[in-house]
Amino acid sequence: MHERHTRPQLRRFRNEILLPNVFRVLQWPHKTRDGYVRFLCPLCREFNTAVNPATNLGRCFRCERNFNPIDFVIEVQACDFREAIAYLSPLLPPPRRDSQP
Ligand SMILES: [Zn+2]
Repeated sequence: MHERHTRPQLRRFRNEILLPNVFRVLQWPHKTRDGYVRFLCPLCREFNTAVNPATNLGRCFRCERNFNPIDFVIEVQACDFREAIAYLSPLLPPPRRDSQP
């Protein structure tokens, strides 16, 4: 099935699928320390990381890289963008009734 993804839909993937949920589904090592969710960086394999709950971005302070949920799946699964979207689709919460079509 071919599915077309609009810009607002992609924004939902980045904002509404919380990174800690992505870590859980991937069974990716993560832990909460000092009030922040820290995750194993898929690039340098260190825990010098934190999820910013305001932006839903995971940052590795060593690599100086940010990961949104789509980036993270691409990195961990070594897949392409379309496969990452397919992987994340089941995690997307149902659209709010008051949201724009
Ligand atoms: Zn890193």
